[in-house]
Amino acid sequence: MKMKLKPIVEMLRNLNVDELTEVMMILTGSKLETVIDDPIKSFKELILKRKATSLGDRPYCPHCQSHRVVKNGHKDGRQRFICKDCKHTYTWTNNTILYGMKISYDTLLIYCDCMMHKMTIRQCATCCRISKSSSFDWRHKILDALQNMHNEVVLNGIIESDETYFGLSFKGCKNPDILTRLPHKRGGSNHVRGISDELVCVPCSVNLNGLSIGRITNLGRPTIDELSGFIKGRIEEGSFFVTDSLNSYDQIAEDNNLTHIKIESGKHKNGMFNIQKINSYHSELKRMINDLFKGVATKYLNNYVVYHNFVNIAKESVIEKTKILKEFVCSTICNSRGYKVNLRDAIPV
Ligand SMILES: [Zn+2]
Repeated sequence: MKMKLKPIVEMLRNLNVDELTEVMMILTGSKLETVIDDPIKSFKELILKRKATSLGDRPYCPHCQSHRVVKNGHKDGRQRFICKDCKHTYTWTNNTILYGMKISYDTLLIYCDCMMHKMTIRQCATCCRISKSSSFDWRHKILDALQNMHNEVVLNGIIESDETYFGLSFKGCKNPDILTRLPHKRGGSNHVRGISDELVCVPCSVNLNGLSIGRITNLGRPTIDELSGFIKGRIEEGSFFVTDSLNSYDQIAEDNNLTHIKIESGKHKNGMFNIQKINSYHSELKRMINDLFKGVATKYLNNYVVYHNFVNIAKESVIEKTKILKEFVCSTICNSRGYKVNLRDAIPV
């Protein structure tokens, strides 16, 4: 078997990114089709199902929340409505990421498939036949929408918690002003021992069912308030809270009525509890960000944490998750716009 594979592997090594993407599409093709064919048949039905602000066959007015709305012709093949109170017109896509969308709905669904396969921005662009900059915008619009799902996650049961660190990154940042925002300007080497202000702290928690949360809280070591702000409202009372020996966690466990299981430094477990799950969560996150995507700018790091939580950690099958992703991002209330994607803060804390 190994002998048979050798010439194929040799051939693959000589291909460029676009050619490799094409091979990947051929190999995963049958799978992709089944996902696409398991359809979101009607876009209208989909939004109706999820949008809290609908009146059965019509959405509320997104401008003044009035219920006095009537149909008012079509725009770009989509039903348009007019509000009798504020006179604004709108369609189903208002307040969703689909508003003002320039790519087709089908292309967006293929983009979601590509994201489930953890393709790079360039590979997604090739598969969807869109520009690299559109591909970049779409990735972040989809991840912005996914943040809504992440914000609803409340962990229960046995929860392992720990922080991880990433170096500050201004990858792709064209604005030289940003360098003046660096916490410490240093001449020469920027190598600093230990945990410095040039590292972003990302506390993360994961439970045994594959639910997880994580986000940037601060630069350098976190204070008790920063960690506390991260945990607040995200863990059910009475859960088991497994952490390393960092003292801040004692207080946090007490404040949130959690049973604290502390793993003393130098030890790997405490009775039946350990922090293996959160350790592998961190290594997988690092692998995705540093190896697969070759580093991401700090301003997009929160989006990649959510991406990791959904694609790598959530326990549903790839097919199930693909369907959830498509339905959720198209229908959740999200005003993320492509032209605003790179305007966000370089350091989101
Ligand atoms: Zn109105």
